[in-house]
Amino acid sequence: MAWFRRGKKGIKAAVDKKDMPQGVWLKCRECTEILYRPELEKSHWVCQKCGYHFRISSRQYFQLLFDEGSFVEEDAGLRPSDPLHFRDSKKYKDRIVAAQTKTGLDDAIVSGRATVDGIPVSIAALDFSFMGGSMGSVVGERIARAAQRAIDARRGLITLSASGGARMQEGILSLMQMAKTSAMLAKLAEERLPHISILTDPTTGGVTASFASLGDVILAEPKALVGFAGPRVIRETINQELPEGFQRSEFLEAHGFVDRVVHRRDLNRTLATVLAFFGDAPMPTGRLRRRQDDH
Ligand SMILES: [Zn+2]
Repeated sequence: MAWFRRGKKGIKAAVDKKDMPQGVWLKCRECTEILYRPELEKSHWVCQKCGYHFRISSRQYFQLLFDEGSFVEEDAGLRPSDPLHFRDSKKYKDRIVAAQTKTGLDDAIVSGRATVDGIPVSIAALDFSFMGGSMGSVVGERIARAAQRAIDARRGLITLSASGGARMQEGILSLMQMAKTSAMLAKLAEERLPHISILTDPTTGGVTASFASLGDVILAEPKALVGFAGPRVIRETINQELPEGFQRSEFLEAHGFVDRVVHRRDLNRTLATVLAFFGDAPMPTGRLRRRQDDH
């Protein structure tokens, strides 16, 4: 039974909710400050009060990291299949379609080539909004191909991680991507080409346990959760309280797993500096050079 009844039929709000600018005001997840969307966009989705880094898409990172208009997507159209005919509470096939519709992406990754301060790079970036950025066959394949293209064109590889880990709906095929991406990075290392890994919130599971941890240089955004198993599982396994800041970028930097924690606004400059260092340093094979001409 309703407490109140509408006296007249057909009464509508003056403005349809859909016409309202959606989410102009947002609450910071960290400090609960109310933030104005246009201001937040200007600050690359970092809370101006507390520095909390909101999750952003691969495309937003590309705008931030690469020279304007330099990004060219490659391997677009690789779409996941469902060889195991997996279903949990939903069919994997249906989950894929729902994620594709929601994000406009084929899978949890966008890869291609671009330039950073004029230096050509190969890039593979994960999208957390697509099934938690989980690594299945398509993610693994696109990373492997991005690494191969880096080798073919003699350029560095940048990977950007935002992932809950392996895609369980692909079972062993998903776990195999850990070996596959690691093997390709070993080839890249043999060619003495740099791999720069950028860790964002969160980077966990099989992604941490494979390519994300294999950077020659590993950068991480402030306070990003980076680890393999979650803190609750670890706490219950070792039956001990975990130290403060456990599995956050700053903790990992202090313990040598991350080379530098970089604020989002400084990512582009830091990346350019690191790439220039590798590009200009005399490498033993003498083959690694800036290749602006062939971009
Ligand atoms: Zn905040």
